[in-house]
Amino acid sequence: MAAAARLVSRLTLVTGGGGGIGRAVCQRFASEGASVVVADADQQSATETLGSLQTGGRGQGHMVAVVDVSSRDSVKKLVTSIQAHFFQPPLVCVNAAGITQDDFLLNMEEEKFDRVVQVNLKGSFLVTQAVAQALVACGASKGSIITVGSIVGKAGNIGQVNYAASKAGVEGLTKTAAKELSRFGIRCNCVLPGFISTPMTDRVPEKVIQKMKSLVPLGRIGEPAEVADVCAFLASDDSRYITGASVEVSGGLFIG
Ligand code: NAP
Repeated sequence: MAAAARLVSRLTLVTGGGGGIGRAVCQRFASEGASVVVADADQQSATETLGSLQTGGRGQGHMVAVVDVSSRDSVKKLVTSIQAHFFQPPLVCVNAAGITQDDFLLNMEEEKFDRVVQVNLKGSFLVTQAVAQALVACGASKGSIITVGSIVGKAGNIGQVNYAASKAGVEGLTKTAAKELSRFGIRCNCVLPGFISTPMTDRVPEKVIQKMKSLVPLGRIGEPAEVADVCAFLASDDSRYITGASVEVSGGLFIG
């Protein structure tokens, strides 16, 4: 995909920016001219992402931030530090931090259920709220908040009762945020990846990967860049009349 310049002057916060999809989002956004805040729980992977980003555009600069999206204090510090560094809040936010802690429903421990919901759902809430509050407070005329859900939030998935519930939750959160924030010019959308090749899915046994692949109408596992392309569209004015939407990036997995 040829680089465009749709995101020049769009300061962008990417949580999970050290991970597979988050890193691809940071790279795609930087290649389109955005300044990027690479935020992650893992400083090392976030710093590696930073080192891979294109720079040199007019006024373009990037930074790394360590954050635990499940902590209100940590998220508040993150947004404050971005405003101190760039003298403005992020105009675009991509919520890509996420975890899995899989088990069957009959065995799922309460702690595993709670932790996945805390990071994936509450984390998306805290970041969305903090960014929206900062945008409204500074009188920004527009913003775009993109949350990475999952196709399994719609379809369910064996062994992922906690994860599927958290991802169904982010869709409801996003649709509600879209309704409440549209009067401030802030659009909120989800992308719903299917099975994408990242460190998260590296842990999945080969047997399961082959089975998943056989279920994908397009016949292959997706690449992080293919999710990033859709995030860039949703961040840009090309999607200016889209809010409250969920875009499936799944190769057709679980069409329904
Ligand atoms: P990944 O490579 O594991 O990246 C996730 C990143 O989030 C990691 O760098 C992780 O850091 C970070 N993170 C975890 N907990 C955090 C916290 N509390 N605060 C801040 N950062 C935290 O996974 P990915 O595949 O790129 O996933 C990105 C998003 O896409 C997730 O929301 C995931 O649920 C979603 N998704 C992925 C797929 C897929 O097939 N890969 C499909 C559907 C949806 P650590 O490494 O330190 O944990």
